[in-house]
Amino acid sequence: MTRGEPAPHRKFDRCVDDIGEVLFNDSGMHGFRFYRYAVSTIEHAGRFAVLLFLILAVLLAGASEAAAKALTISNHFSPLNQKRPFRTTTRHIVLHTTEGALEGSLRKVHRFGEAHYLVAPSGEVYRIIDRRRIATHTGRSMWKGKSTLDDFTIGIEVVGYHDEDITTAQYASLRELLRQLKAIYRIRDKDVLTHSMVAYGRPNRFHPQRHRGRKKCGMLFAHPDVRRRLGLSARPTRDPDVAARRLAVADPELHRFLYRPPRMWAALIGARESQRPDERREATRVIAKGINAWNVARDRYDHRTTIYEYPDGRRFRGDEIREWEAIPAGTRVRFEDVPEREQSFEGFLEIGRDGSRASDLAGDLYTDSTTIYFFPSGLIRTGAELNKNASLRKLLERPPKGTRVLAGYIYGGYVQGVRSASRIAGRKWNYPSTFYRLPDGRILSGDEIDDQKIPGRTLVFLLK
Ligand SMILES: [Zn+2]
Repeated sequence: MTRGEPAPHRKFDRCVDDIGEVLFNDSGMHGFRFYRYAVSTIEHAGRFAVLLFLILAVLLAGASEAAAKALTISNHFSPLNQKRPFRTTTRHIVLHTTEGALEGSLRKVHRFGEAHYLVAPSGEVYRIIDRRRIATHTGRSMWKGKSTLDDFTIGIEVVGYHDEDITTAQYASLRELLRQLKAIYRIRDKDVLTHSMVAYGRPNRFHPQRHRGRKKCGMLFAHPDVRRRLGLSARPTRDPDVAARRLAVADPELHRFLYRPPRMWAALIGARESQRPDERREATRVIAKGINAWNVARDRYDHRTTIYEYPDGRRFRGDEIREWEAIPAGTRVRFEDVPEREQSFEGFLEIGRDGSRASDLAGDLYTDSTTIYFFPSGLIRTGAELNKNASLRKLLERPPKGTRVLAGYIYGGYVQGVRSASRIAGRKWNYPSTFYRLPDGRILSGDEIDDQKIPGRTLVFLLK
């Protein structure tokens, strides 16, 4: 049922086709069931009623086939697909924009298994991860107090930009894809979210609390006009985690767009047409009064791959800058295009590199049981454990340079020689968000670990 293109990973064909049949055929099945029902009714009902039934059945089958035609899916499964665990529940669909062109976006999403589907500008849909498995598309995320949305959501990447309209073909195929997925998982319209709604940032030097505004990804899909065209009649009208004070608002403008959207999306887009999109984006990547490094680069502000070009010609990488307030106005910010995992689970922070105090790295949660400290001496303790003990509290107050911190994790204990990772970490043993620290110091994720080959004394950490 999927279109011509040969699947790059043939060994997954069977599984893929099973899923493909279900997704593609379930609308056609209505027509068939109607027909069977009509036939069985012949003995009991008058001719006229039967005729009416048959006409209805044919019409319905035709209509659903026409709708399904808007959708052509081809398989482009990630090499990580088969490794990914199955989700136990599915509560939301999360919409993303790639912020880049088809080719590069598809390559990256495919390589790291970062979406279930990708919708090309032509409307063609690619299957990246089996819809029943986990794709890593939301990174650090929260909705209604529940974190790590990857574990209970479906992710759809739409090739395009957060503040630009998508193509007519994309509207048609995304609408049909959403219709089918909503039916399969009984997802309500208001539970179709955007990545910008659910992503949150850990405390940093610009925002002392955990905050919303880490990403603008998929922003346009919050607008009622866009949602209407996608067959979505309801939307979330407030941020549940901001309302409950679990998170702060770091980008008021984005917050307004998501929950108090401007009247007309079309007018908003029309007003921008005088400027070329790439020029407009270029203009938004300059440090100015009131626009700091976080506003421009968000979570990537202190990344190695973020380049700051000062007006005097000097260049610095994000991890070389210490005085963030001293970056001169007019500094241009460029992102090096390296094939890396954007939605990695942020991993470890380090004293001396990311800040000098524990609270610089973990914010208000620095004494929490979900903040784990790795001291250069080899000692590993949670913030709560350190805070309980007077002598250890000194370590917490003045952590030595090189101390590493993992925030928002649960300490899962050691893997003994005879115990497998699946026995110690349970069903989350191969979740992409689960971390393993091997005795040689290497850190691997659930994507990279092999259950049979885990050395004793390996530590396991589960994302809370
Ligand atoms: Zn996204």
